[in-house]
Amino acid sequence: MFVDVGFACIFRRYGVIGMVKTYLNFIDGKWVRSSSGKTFDNMNPATGELIARFQAGTREDVKKAVKSAKNAFPAWRETPATERADILLRSSLILEKRKEELSRLMTMENGKILSEARGDVQEAIDMFQYMAGEGRRLFGETTKSELRNKFCMSVRDPIGVVGMITPWNFPMAIPAWKIAPALVCGNTIVFKPASDTPLSVMKLAEILDEAGLPKGVLNVVTGSGGVVGKEIVENQGIQHLSFTGSTEVGREVYVGGAKKLNSVELEMGGKNPQIVLKDADLDLAVQGALWGAFGTSGQRCTATSRIIVEKPVLKKFTEKFLRKTRGIRTGNGLKKGITMGPIINGGQMTKILGYIETGKKEGAKLLLGGRRLSGKEHKRGNFISPTVFGKVTKSMTIAQEEIFGPVTCIMEAKDFMDAVNIANSVDYGLSWSIYTRDVNKAFKAMELAESGIFYVNAPTIGAEVHLPFGGVKGTGNGGREAGTTGIDEFSEIKSVFVDYSGGLQRAQIDNK
Ligand code: NAP
Repeated sequence: MFVDVGFACIFRRYGVIGMVKTYLNFIDGKWVRSSSGKTFDNMNPATGELIARFQAGTREDVKKAVKSAKNAFPAWRETPATERADILLRSSLILEKRKEELSRLMTMENGKILSEARGDVQEAIDMFQYMAGEGRRLFGETTKSELRNKFCMSVRDPIGVVGMITPWNFPMAIPAWKIAPALVCGNTIVFKPASDTPLSVMKLAEILDEAGLPKGVLNVVTGSGGVVGKEIVENQGIQHLSFTGSTEVGREVYVGGAKKLNSVELEMGGKNPQIVLKDADLDLAVQGALWGAFGTSGQRCTATSRIIVEKPVLKKFTEKFLRKTRGIRTGNGLKKGITMGPIINGGQMTKILGYIETGKKEGAKLLLGGRRLSGKEHKRGNFISPTVFGKVTKSMTIAQEEIFGPVTCIMEAKDFMDAVNIANSVDYGLSWSIYTRDVNKAFKAMELAESGIFYVNAPTIGAEVHLPFGGVKGTGNGGREAGTTGIDEFSEIKSVFVDYSGGLQRAQIDNK
């Protein structure tokens, strides 16, 4: 039994609303309590209700998880990649069968509206199926030797035990982006989910277990970043770190990994621009900006937080955009008709409201929203109205820093090159979008964009699992997740030379 059903009941003014489950850590194929003997609460950000309790993990728990992953590694690396892939495929079929239930749970723990939660689960399904296909590829290279009677190729090996740390905004998709390629490549895993959304990862572990994943191959320890996360970063038994989260924490993870010469993959913050040129289809650009800015309440690394509009269409675009933004209905994402959910937690809400105040102080014009919602439907949750600033200039804090909430800035550009320069004027470089009918400008922008992802006539959000995902500048450190580059992250390359000449052939370097 993986879940310990506690006897805690939730009492509210209106009575008992349900039994609360206490989830355990998953180590060496068993569901176990933390050595701390303590748990932490997971709350619904839309209603303030307690959803479940999770283990407050310790460094000791992580050490046990690493030991288990280390023990499981030799047999798992020997398992044919196609068999490893079969487990991924079986898991994807279970995910498909349980998609609705998992999506509902995700809306409860994360707040994103149900249709978006379904998309999050679907991305996990897609990634598991895509990576299951990789079980029959995992390509290396063959090439000619510089010598006679000698064969050359490269093959892929797993890295070993990999440590994974993830954020709360895609509770299942981001873990799946990491877990699926790592497993098909033959690695074993120690995983720490975000403390705001551990439930989806527990469900993923439960499903992989059901699909036949051998014990110890995936280990999940819940608990705080400062304890569980730190031990994963520092533990000498871990050979690779895969981190998605803020640039601030990512920097710490990078430094910690460097100290033990780990490879480290970082996927971090964004400050993504959507450019709207004067020849653009304005209605389409408005739709794109609306989805890009307010999807997942703006809590996406790819969120459109800057809309850079060429002067001749600025007024018209702004009017249309504000009209559409007024139509957003904020509330509990499980309810019909709701188009935007809450902010993940109180701390994040305070941070966003702080940015709104800074925007006003620095001279930006608040065109819409900008406040916490506290009506009947909102008073128990963390809700901020969709917020639009106008007259934003590139030196302002709200134009530079990642807000990670339903706040977007409209900025005026004199012409195409001015728009490109404004778009590139930040320390981040994840996703870029341009709306135009001019193919020359679209291609020029593609060339000049300082970003890892680029869209023409589509919003800054909407990744596909078979294409590389990642960013430049403060967003990443050179790697890419997903697609075939996801395989690169989780494998070591070995160059192999077979000499069938029967004699000692010295390489050219030793013959000159
Ligand atoms: P975060 O605060 O950086 O946390 C990310 C993860 O790191 C969490 O699991 C957290 O644990 C853990 N952590 C915190 N301190 C740590 C430490 N000292 N050592 C090791 N681990 C530690 O980020 P977040 O607020 O969850 O997520 C939002 C950020 O993620 C945004 O900046 C967003 O842009 C970024 N993001 C990037 C991508 C991308 O692909 N580029 C995708 C999604 C999100 P706790 O939860 O226990 O604090």
